[in-house]
Amino acid sequence: MDQMPPTRTTKPKFIIGNWKMNGMLEDGIKFLDFLSEDWLRHTLMRHQRYAIICPPAHLLYPLAEEMRRLIGRERNFMLGGQDCSAEAGMGAFTGEIAALMLRDAGAHFCLVGHSERRTRHNETNELVAAKAARAVEAGLIPIICLGETRLEREAGETNAVVGRQLRQSLALILPFLNQVNEEEAKTATPHLKAMIAYEPVWAIGTGLVPSPQDIAATHGFIRSTLGELCAAQAGVMPILYGGSVKPDNASAILAVDDVDGLLVGGASLNAASFRALCGA
Ligand code: PEP
Repeated sequence: MDQMPPTRTTKPKFIIGNWKMNGMLEDGIKFLDFLSEDWLRHTLMRHQRYAIICPPAHLLYPLAEEMRRLIGRERNFMLGGQDCSAEAGMGAFTGEIAALMLRDAGAHFCLVGHSERRTRHNETNELVAAKAARAVEAGLIPIICLGETRLEREAGETNAVVGRQLRQSLALILPFLNQVNEEEAKTATPHLKAMIAYEPVWAIGTGLVPSPQDIAATHGFIRSTLGELCAAQAGVMPILYGGSVKPDNASAILAVDDVDGLLVGGASLNAASFRALCGA
């Protein structure tokens, strides 16, 4: 991307809204207008927050245009896609959307491997890895979603499941993550290249949230696995928590060790609630 968010040295937090299949054009524009130019321009920066909205694909371009109208090229508020095709380039793939098209429409990020895609569309780690690779090739930052089911947690398999998802989903972009370009070497500041979202499947949309200790344990495990896979990125790659985050539990979750932000579904749909999440 043209202007990278600062990395973990300044410890920004990322608040990401996943709107799923919600939102008509009018809703999206009203949402941004409610947030207001002043909030978008100043408040996020003051609180060291990056806000990212992942709307349905048809809203990316109009929201990008409305953002440009409100705040020009300010980069504390950005857009992301919810999914992208695993196919390279463009072509005869009915219903698919290419990462390049998301970028063209104004996205800087793209969720891949959300549990709703993994369970409802049978997406495997291999497919998620291909999607992450397409996102990187298109200049998007992939947000790779991982998480165990309730049965897997009860069987004590959380780390095994999350570790496997992490290794296999990152497999194709490891060379990119491990490559240190001249500017990074000179400034000793790794660029932001990918994010991980830990979202226990049993916590999504259920009102259930793991304890702070459990979140810290899994985030710590993800951080140490990243250390084995891509040492240069391990310290800076944001690890987000997702699953039933609301304005009233957001600040407690953000205070947990190794939580660099939040991925929020339901509570990101309402502009007042999203503002509250960003201020938590
Ligand atoms: C999600 O679907 O990514 C999510 C975290 O949903 P919710 O916040 O509604 O649990």
